[in-house]
Amino acid sequence: MTIQSTVPEGKHRFALSWTTVAFFGAVHALALSAPWFFSWSALGVMIFLHWLFGSIGICLGYHRLLTHRSFQVPKWLEYIIATIGALALQGGPIFWVATHRMHHAYTEDEKKDPYSARRGFWWSHMLWLFYPSDEFFNYSNYKRFAPDLDRDVYYRWLNRNFLLLQIPFGLLLYGLGGWDFVIYGMFVRSVLLWHSTWLINSAAHLRGYRNFSLDDGSRNLWWAALLTYGEGWHNNHHAHPNVAKAGQRWWEIDVTWWAIQALNTLGLAQKVVSR
Ligand SMILES: [Zn+2]
Ligand SMILES: [Zn+2]
Repeated sequence: MTIQSTVPEGKHRFALSWTTVAFFGAVHALALSAPWFFSWSALGVMIFLHWLFGSIGICLGYHRLLTHRSFQVPKWLEYIIATIGALALQGGPIFWVATHRMHHAYTEDEKKDPYSARRGFWWSHMLWLFYPSDEFFNYSNYKRFAPDLDRDVYYRWLNRNFLLLQIPFGLLLYGLGGWDFVIYGMFVRSVLLWHSTWLINSAAHLRGYRNFSLDDGSRNLWWAALLTYGEGWHNNHHAHPNVAKAGQRWWEIDVTWWAIQALNTLGLAQKVVSR
């Protein structure tokens, strides 16, 4: 549901999606019930799933594998990793990959970059999701940026139905540990993973240092890199988007790179792009 309460911004008008507000508001509210459901095992499940969905699903899968093709894995493994990414509740793979490719193609352009940092911290962090424009959120428009994925019947299905995966996943959590596991594994984990991912679009385009002099404002932000398993070395990434390793200096810890190396050692990751 998109209502017509519009926010004028120059010549452009953006409609606030109350469905999106209600969805993110409800998940945040449920996450705030965490103190009443605390257990050490629930906290452990939350941390494990934050790594699994964040580092493996989003950083390794959606980002370095599907968006930038910085390495290759067998198709069956690519589907498993993409499905883990879809469980992170950051949209379907075609949407995520297409909007991120727009971000790289038109970095910080106020109209063409979906989460342009020039429009302010909160816009690039999360407001771009609350004011969904047709250009970035309408499938027939954004699919042009991910034709490789759009040709694949499984990715088209996953792009439409990623939300449905939450049902068996929620039931699994409930079966394993009751409401403690559901609140921590689904709601607390979603909120923490959303904000850590979003910090790359907001904070890592505003704060931090640069290894490379670029036209955009991308920065390396050490604490964001720790929260996002290496994605916070964002200036390195904008300088060399197709390189599988985001950390360049010895102390730029890149946890997702460790997983790519592990897959490579097992013979599962091939054609790893390096500098
Ligand atoms: Zn960026
Ligand atoms: Zn990227």
